[in-house]
Amino acid sequence: MATLTELDHRHLWHPFTQQRDWMRNKPLIIERAEGNYLIDVQGNRYLDAVSSLWTNVHGHRVPEIDQAIRDQLDKVAHSTLLGLSHPPAILLATRLVELAPDGLQRVFFSDNGSTSTEVALKMAFQYQQQIGQTKRTQFASLRDAYHGDTIGAVSVGSIDLFHQVYRPLLFEGLALPAPVQSGGEEEAACLERALTLLEAQADTLACLIVEPLVQGAAGMKMHSPYFLKTLLERARALGVLVAVDEVATGFGRTGTLFAVEQADFTPDFMCMAKGIAGGYLPLAATLTTEKVYEAFLAEPEAYKQFFHGHTFTGNPLACAAAMASLDLFDRNNSLAHASDIADEFTQGLHQVAALDSVRAVRQTGLMIGIDLAGPDGAPPAPGAYAGHAVAMAARPLGAILRPLGNTVVINPPLSFTLDQVDALIDITTRAIKQV
Ligand SMILES: *Cc1c(COP(=O)(O)O)cnc(C)c1O
Repeated sequence: MATLTELDHRHLWHPFTQQRDWMRNKPLIIERAEGNYLIDVQGNRYLDAVSSLWTNVHGHRVPEIDQAIRDQLDKVAHSTLLGLSHPPAILLATRLVELAPDGLQRVFFSDNGSTSTEVALKMAFQYQQQIGQTKRTQFASLRDAYHGDTIGAVSVGSIDLFHQVYRPLLFEGLALPAPVQSGGEEEAACLERALTLLEAQADTLACLIVEPLVQGAAGMKMHSPYFLKTLLERARALGVLVAVDEVATGFGRTGTLFAVEQADFTPDFMCMAKGIAGGYLPLAATLTTEKVYEAFLAEPEAYKQFFHGHTFTGNPLACAAAMASLDLFDRNNSLAHASDIADEFTQGLHQVAALDSVRAVRQTGLMIGIDLAGPDGAPPAPGAYAGHAVAMAARPLGAILRPLGNTVVINPPLSFTLDQVDALIDITTRAIKQV
């Protein structure tokens, strides 16, 4: 343990981390996992309350997924999709098309959430160019959107804290107002303003990209299916393509397999990553329609193909894990189970919402945000790191939480049991009270 700590401090640079602060503490080093628990090098067990960064679906070391990866290992670990094909990618693409909203028929694989949104943005741009809509060069997104960390994805993001420093590198876009909480007057006002802004600039827009129902990284900001549907339908009516970024919301997190189903709308692009392979391996997909696909068809010398591809695109091991994960949705009735545990959270969260140091609690399915309050009821000062303090307090109590600013986030695997929900509510309540 001492050696690992020393080597971590000497050589690793952790993501989204102030390393000076990191170096002041002993790292928690996870060695293995069992079901919904992570286990550190000293054998301590922690509920994985944020699904290993919102990826894990059926728990860890699931026998069926482990076996599917081993079986694929006995065939080939990696072969490219550039110039070749392989069965796991073909079969998974077919399966995703069956599961996605009607009309999404083409699957472009990549390997993480940022690439899945970059692919949608570049496809949308090139599509508009190739159908002669050459003035449609800009993108619209929601205020506080997060679509990944590569430069294109950051350009359509608008979380100032993450994105401000990179501003000079980014392309300009239109940020539309989005509510914090679904329903109510704030949402209605945001919607009206968003539609006005969209209409004013529609002729210049290639695509609107939206995290459907829950803006995760923004701190679990939520909107209603009505807000989503109205916005997406208006964009389409104005000739703007629509991309939904289901990287966080996909695979059962919001009550349906994909959040956009609740708006009964087929987008032009659907981006998936995090949960696609059950949280086991890096994999992503961007689905689109035949209409978009056909704009890229031409004789080779016309150079109209999509100029994009990542080395590990559609990796066979990851595709095999994804197929096994999708099988488990059926076998375990995962969506019905997720709905039961979401109800258990709703019950338990009443006690959290009643704490003096909690300003608001939001929940859509298994995606939960708890906004903390300072002693005066207002948001705590940023320097107080209140969310971080709650997450640290939860560790000795047996849960891994990762906050977003002053918002404590809960986003567990769909495989959580009712008892584990109760235990997590108890830990969260105690951690907030301590802090
Ligand atoms: C996490 C996330 C991304 C980025 O995914 P990476 O795999 O981290 O690149 C994009 N969009 C949304 C909505 C996300 O939550």
